[in-house]
Amino acid sequence: MSEIAKKASSAKDALAAAAGLSRHDFSAERANELFERIFQEAPIAMAIVDLDYRFVQVNAAMCEMVGYSEQELTQLRSLDITFPEDVDVTRQNAQMLLNGAAGSSFEKRYVRKDNEVIWINCTVHPIELGDGQPRYRLGMVQDITQRKRAEEEIHKLNQDLEQRVQERTAELQAANRELQNDIAERKQTEEALRESEKRLAQAQRIAHLGYWERDLDTDRVVWSNETYRVFGLSPQEKVNHFAGFQERIYPEDREMVMQAIEKALKGGPRYEVEYRVVWPSGEVRFVHSQGDVILDESGQPRRMFGTVQDVTGRKQAEEALREAEQKYRAIFENAVEGIFQTTPEGKYISVNPALARLYGYDSPAELMASVGDIAGTIYVDPERRAAFKRLIETKGSVELFEYEVFRKDGSKIWLCENARAVRDVNGVIMYYEGTVEDITERKLVDEVKRASKAKSEFLSRMSHELRTPLNAILGFSQLLERQKPTEIQQKRIGYILSAGKHLLGLINEVLDISRIEAGRMQLSLEPVCIADALEETLDLMRPLATERTIQLSASVDIDAGVHVLADRQRFKQVLLNLLNNAVKYTPFCGGVTVSYNVNGNDKVRVLVSDTGPGIPPEKLARLFTPFDRLGAEQSAVEGTGLGLALSQRLMQAMGGSIGADSAVGKGSTFWIELPRTKSPLEKLPVRNEANGARESTSQSRIRSILYIEDNLSNLSLIEQMLAERPGTALLTTMQGKVGLDLARQHSPDLILLDLHLPDLPGWDVLSQLKANATTRDIPVVVISADATKRQINRLMAAGAAHYLTKPLDVTKFFRVLDETTDIGGTKLPAEAISNVEVKEACQST
Ligand code: ADP
Repeated sequence: MSEIAKKASSAKDALAAAAGLSRHDFSAERANELFERIFQEAPIAMAIVDLDYRFVQVNAAMCEMVGYSEQELTQLRSLDITFPEDVDVTRQNAQMLLNGAAGSSFEKRYVRKDNEVIWINCTVHPIELGDGQPRYRLGMVQDITQRKRAEEEIHKLNQDLEQRVQERTAELQAANRELQNDIAERKQTEEALRESEKRLAQAQRIAHLGYWERDLDTDRVVWSNETYRVFGLSPQEKVNHFAGFQERIYPEDREMVMQAIEKALKGGPRYEVEYRVVWPSGEVRFVHSQGDVILDESGQPRRMFGTVQDVTGRKQAEEALREAEQKYRAIFENAVEGIFQTTPEGKYISVNPALARLYGYDSPAELMASVGDIAGTIYVDPERRAAFKRLIETKGSVELFEYEVFRKDGSKIWLCENARAVRDVNGVIMYYEGTVEDITERKLVDEVKRASKAKSEFLSRMSHELRTPLNAILGFSQLLERQKPTEIQQKRIGYILSAGKHLLGLINEVLDISRIEAGRMQLSLEPVCIADALEETLDLMRPLATERTIQLSASVDIDAGVHVLADRQRFKQVLLNLLNNAVKYTPFCGGVTVSYNVNGNDKVRVLVSDTGPGIPPEKLARLFTPFDRLGAEQSAVEGTGLGLALSQRLMQAMGGSIGADSAVGKGSTFWIELPRTKSPLEKLPVRNEANGARESTSQSRIRSILYIEDNLSNLSLIEQMLAERPGTALLTTMQGKVGLDLARQHSPDLILLDLHLPDLPGWDVLSQLKANATTRDIPVVVISADATKRQINRLMAAGAAHYLTKPLDVTKFFRVLDETTDIGGTKLPAEAISNVEVKEACQST
């Protein structure tokens, strides 16, 4: 038990003893003693201080509390042991007491003698000594250090706790914020993931790229929507098992796919295959699939995943490309034209076999290896290559570019090229490509054609000019012949006539050649008596045959009257050419025979055989090639090499044919074949009474004829010819307009019209005659040197009754005259003449 506790206990005892006494028993002394005893032994520290804070009296508990002895304390002031910071509180409290406040309690600190600071609770009561004036203060002091410390501890704890709560709260708030952020971030991530999944799905759909997974333990499979589409299924038609996948593989490809999977699972090459799948509709599609294997920790395959893509479009394009490539290859390899690709510098990149052949090389490889510089090696004129490059580089392509090249053996050929420049994305020329064609032959032919055309045009003009004077020569000779000449005159006239005719024939031939070459051949088909034609041509040939002592014989039945449908002039021309060849190529004293045979009812074949040198079989095929004289150019025999070519074309134009058989050293037989036709005389109607009566009456009247012609010799020729017809009166004029007036005034029975008039074209004169009621029905016979078919057709269509060509064939003239005017003489029916001369002329070309 502490000292204070002991004292307290004895104080209690003292008070208890005191409690047994009555108030009246207390004397002042006794009371002081008692108070002293209670004061001293009180378990609570007590001190009496004066107004100056001097300890007046202190009890033992007080001394124990502050560590000072009573004596030491009474030497001190309470302020001396008060903790400096609490001095003010002490003073304030003391002041309150002085101001009349009853006892008050407050807390403050003392500094013990050993300097320990203790907390006390001090309850102060004023003490007055009966005069009402407070003189002392009694303080009861309680050590509350423990409590204060506990309180401080608690306070500190509270503070700690609060700080920790605050810290924790802050931590929680931070964590919460982080969580919020995390959540927001996660939401964003989820959103982004969803977006990305959506995009992925879109991308998959666009690319036809599906995703698949296979669990190798369970063989379960997971397919993305696009994978379903790739297999022609909807995602609702669940395929959960690997077997479902296998079923959809095209049967022939199944094994290959399974093997590829097996190899990948065993660590072999990565799984990547192309195979076909069969859609439920039966359609077969191509897919490309690839995938990876996932292994567990022990290296065992657990899962496979990968992609599958529909590549049908690509496959089809590849197939089309392959086919196109094959086609192109075939064209490239087999083309007749040369195909090439070259660098702009002039090196071949690729060439086809045709090009190699063209240049005389054995193979494309040999050509490419041999030619390093096209301009220098191939081009005859390297400037042409420069021109080619300029063209292709500025225009991008060249068409029909012609140039001459050297072949491997040094020979030259002409080529025609079409090419284009192939550029890269920057427009830089990578190479040229194109085709070439050998045009050497065409070049030659063109050259020949050009020369020939120029010659034809010249000949055509010349011969036309020659025909007009010949008209007078032949016409007047024929007239003279009809005027009963003396024998000697007759002979001379004969010479003039035959020379004129020969000259006319020659001119005609020259004209024919030019016309054939210009493609303007005119024919007039009519029944031609074979015997007559042969006789005429043989007559012409006789002088030459005699000259060359060639025996000319003809086994021809003149009375047979066999006719062929032909252009009389051209037919005779061909015969003449064959006979001429036979006579000129057969050596002196040889023989030439002419014959014909009827081939069935359709054809007549005329044969010209000679005992000449014959033609070697290898040359026979060249007989009809223009300008090819088969070596005769080396001999003394003159010729152009055109006769047979011309004959062949004429025969073809007349619907016939020509050919030859020959044996070297024995002779040749040339033949021509033409369609057979009836004699025109067979078509003559049987003359009856009525016709005879008409003829006799018609002969009794004068017929008037108007001749519109500006050439005096022609006018005079017709005048003299008509002098043979006593029943005719001739009106003539050299002007077209005057002719029209005369026609209207005199209404002649016939108008003869020339086409080349000084004032009006003959065409206009005819049109106006036909347009006028007075002259419309007068038959008009056109007489012109222009014998073109177009011209004849045009004038016949415009109303001409006949078209006669100059030089006039007198017999034919009278025939036409008779027909159109009924002016005496033997007449042919109109249809017999016009049919043959006009209609068949139209059919002939
Ligand atoms: P040419 O003007 O040279 O006679 P042709 O076209 O008439 O031209 O004949 C062509 C070639 O055919 C002649 O150059 C000649 O070599 C040959 N030929 C034509 N007829 C005979 C023939 N009867 N006998 C031998 N060779 C002939």
